[in-house]
Amino acid sequence: MVKAIVGANWGDEGKGKITDLMARQSDVVIRFQGGANAGHTIINDYGRFALHILPSGTFYPHVTNVIGNGVALDVKKLVHELADITGQGVPAPNLIVSERCQLLLPYHVLQDAYEEERLAGQAFGSTKSGIAPFYSDKYAKIGIQVCDLFDESRLRQRLDHVLDIKNVLFEHLYHKPKLAAEALMEELLSLRDSIRPYVGDAVGFVHQAIKENKTVLLEGQLGSMKDPDLGIVPMTTSSHTLAGYGCVGAAVPPTAIEDVIAVTKAYSSSVGAPSEPFVSEVTGPAGDELRRRGGDRGEFGATTGRPRRVGWFDCVATKYGCMVQGATQVALTCLDVLGYLDQIPVCVGYEIDGQITDVFPTPPLLARAKPVFETLPGWKRDIRGETDFSKLPQEAQDYVSFIEARIGAPITIVSTGPKRDEIARR
Ligand code: GDP
Repeated sequence: MVKAIVGANWGDEGKGKITDLMARQSDVVIRFQGGANAGHTIINDYGRFALHILPSGTFYPHVTNVIGNGVALDVKKLVHELADITGQGVPAPNLIVSERCQLLLPYHVLQDAYEEERLAGQAFGSTKSGIAPFYSDKYAKIGIQVCDLFDESRLRQRLDHVLDIKNVLFEHLYHKPKLAAEALMEELLSLRDSIRPYVGDAVGFVHQAIKENKTVLLEGQLGSMKDPDLGIVPMTTSSHTLAGYGCVGAAVPPTAIEDVIAVTKAYSSSVGAPSEPFVSEVTGPAGDELRRRGGDRGEFGATTGRPRRVGWFDCVATKYGCMVQGATQVALTCLDVLGYLDQIPVCVGYEIDGQITDVFPTPPLLARAKPVFETLPGWKRDIRGETDFSKLPQEAQDYVSFIEARIGAPITIVSTGPKRDEIARR
């Protein structure tokens, strides 16, 4: 049985906590897209961790964690993260790195930074971790797979081919130093040695696990709005953030995904460029207060530390976000954060050129959308840690039902705090 945990919005919905929780009842947890450019926050008995590349089953000895072929693998960051968690007393995880995974290399990071510099004011707000150049190379068929590391002459040939192209760009478009093949080759071989113990046939492993009726969790990064096809183009990431992509990035059969848990937060937040449309945004002192109270330490990027833009819950974006994920159920996180408000606005529609709609529009129309809010009464109580939904204040229960009626999928999990057990099921 395969389940996917994915974001219904802009990312940072609290997927890490939900995956960590569900990993307890799983045999395999797989990252299937993205790279180390975003982070999941997990708080458990070992401490507080921001995982960037390791799957969220890392803290359970019974889980096999897989870095699937769809991931942008930054080996240095992986090795660093492994050292970091074992240094904090976590037992070394069971980990398989797919031999078909492609490598995110130093020139991807350089190219990302050079491109942002070139775009100056029109930059996309990239985290500059090389993700866009990495995926561009994959589709241009000049990526290097983990398995290439184990065939030195093939590796050198592929590297020479990439550098022919990169060096023209670096020299003539960006006016930066050229790259030398020898130094890179050396670096690649040392990376190979550091991941050798983990490299394996993830595709075969996953299919066998499914055959044996194991529970497999697909762990998404970012959220629907960041999908390069169905998201807010071009303010997206460069890999598909949708559960459906798990069939490619984790190599699970399409018919095997039985459950898609879309995660959404009781308010909205988004990292990225200020030019990105963010219809339900709250700015000024009200926004500052929501940002400060959000999450477990305020709404600041787990990887970059950048302040996130915040907004009220957006039913239009979330309904669309759940639809494109194929959500079978929804986890609503951070309900406890809203306990300070007398009244809580919820975005129920967009006004575009004088027309009101609840259908999430294409990017050019989204840029002109204005929020239509309805205001619900707040509950003005600290509900952190409540595990019984029926014991939540009536206003909090009504808030959840109000959202549920507008997003088209059942809210089965309500998270009332950052810790693993701060969960109320419905
Ligand atoms: P992810 O990338 O989707 O895993 O999300 P992040 O980890 O970046 O952001 C979610 C933030 O909210 C983290 O700081 C979590 O510890 C925190 N968090 C998750 N669920 C809850 C919750 O129910 N209440 C509160 N207050 N914080 C939560």
